[in-house]
Formats: sequence, structure tokens, C-alpha cells
Amino acid sequence: MNDFAGIRALVTGGASGIGRATADLLADRGAQVAVLDLDPSGVDKPLLAFRADVTDDASVRAAVTDAADALGGLDVLVNNAGIGAQGTVEDNDDEEWRRVFDVNVLGLVRTARAALPHLRSSSHAAIVNTCSVAATAGLPQRALYSASKGAVYSLTLAMAADHVREGIRVTCVNPGTVDTPWVGRLLDAAPDPAAERAALQARQPTGRLVTAAEVAGAIAYLASPLSGATTGTALAVDGGMQGL
Ligand code: NAD
Repeated sequence: MNDFAGIRALVTGGASGIGRATADLLADRGAQVAVLDLDPSGVDKPLLAFRADVTDDASVRAAVTDAADALGGLDVLVNNAGIGAQGTVEDNDDEEWRRVFDVNVLGLVRTARAALPHLRSSSHAAIVNTCSVAATAGLPQRALYSASKGAVYSLTLAMAADHVREGIRVTCVNPGTVDTPWVGRLLDAAPDPAAERAALQARQPTGRLVTAAEVAGAIAYLASPLSGATTGTALAVDGGMQGL
């Protein structure tokens, strides 16, 4: 099924986890896909790989320009690169707040700024941001991370309003706990990773973690013409974590 034939997509943080699953799904469905990542060394053909750090404006602008040149334009931007942080407001110092906001918020802004001129030339432009349930759920021990994703959620709404009349849709996905290398690293840091994983799964309403492929499916829907009348909204992919 080639839902994405003729679509040119750029996925940030596309070398791992949710971004990798999204890049693979879009490519499987016929899109031409470029990945922007700090470390794109494991990215294989047919995906195009561009090394960039979303905290460095010059490297983002260069990678977005190179990706758009290689693809012959851009229709879809998936702003997915992100990092985590744990703790209450007392646990993270100013430097840590700046570091996480630099990646999760400003990284998205820099990439969108570089991509928008290309997206304006597309007849079906879409930006999909990877947000989080943390944006709205009030999770404990996640003050900094939640605030950064709250900003991603607000940016999604504001950007949707700013660009809807240019034909550019802006949406986000709000994943719950997703089984990615990131979560694997957190579990591996626990004294008993297997017990920690079992406890984490037991806390999910579905009894299991969300898969990266399930988040990729939601991103693909929001990036596709199937959601052509949808903008300025979040799609939860959280196994019922919110509201249950
Ligand atoms: P991951 O660590 O598996 O992958 C993240 C990717 O982003 C990596 O390839 C990494 O190299 C890249 N990256 C990080 N910093 C970067 C930078 N400065 N410049 C360029 N690339 C950079 O993580 P994941 O779990 O797939 O998370 C992806 C996104 O999903 C993040 O925005 C995260 O906040 C969000 N999210 C994850 C979960 C979860 O449970 N895993 C839940 C909700 C939201």
C-alpha cells in the first residue's frame, strides 16, 4: 500500500525508537524519507541520513537544506528529537533546564524555521510533533520534562493557527510509555531491570508498554492526507494512560 507515494518527509531523531519506526513506516508506505539525527550512523537505505544537532541552528539549517535538496522538496516534517529528565523543580538546576529546553523546545523551533520555506511549496504539507502525555497529565518526578512537552503542545496549537492558511497542518502525538531504547536505558539503570519492566507494564491500563510502531502509525496518519482536515490537535497514543 503506497499511501505516501510522492511524499517527501524529514524525521528528526529518526535514528532510534519512535523516530526510527516512523521513518521506516513512511518509507515502507512509499515516502522518500530523510533522517536528521545526532548519530545517524545506523540508518540504512532507502532512508537518507543527515547528521545534525537540533541545539545548533547552523547544523539544523544545513541538514534541512541538504535533505530538501536531496528529496527535491519537503512535504512532511516530524519533529521527534527529544531527551528526558527526571525530578521535581528542586532536583534540576538552571543549566539542566536550559539543556532540556534547548533540545525539546528550541530544537523543534529551529527545525520548523528551517523547514517552513520548503513546506510552503508543498500541496499537502504537514508538521507532526512528538509531544507526550507528560504535557497534560501532571506526572510526578517529571517537572522539567513535562514543562518542555507542555511547550511542545502549546507550540503545536500556535503553529497550527499561524500556518493553516498557508496549507500547512500542525499536529502532535502524545505517547504514553513507549518501549524504545530510551526507556530500555532507564530500565537498565534500575537494580533489577526485569522486575522494573514488569512493574512498569503492570502500571499500564493495557498491561503492556506502547510500541514504537504504534506511535509511528499515529504520526503517519497525522502526516497523511487521510487527516487532511485535522490541525492544531493532539492524538494520544498512551494505552489509556490518561483518563483511566
Ligand atoms: P530515543 O532515545 O530512542 O531516540 C531519540 C533520538 O533523538 C535518538 O536517535 C537521538 O540521537 C536523537 N537526538 C537526541 N538529541 C538530539 C539532538 N540534540 N539533535 C538531533 N538528534 C537528537 O527516544 P524515543 O523514546 O524514541 O523518543 C523520541 C521522542 O518521543 C522524544 O521527543 C520523546 O520525548 C518522545 N516520547 C517518548 C516516550 C517514551 O516513552 N519513549 C514517551 C513520550 C514521548
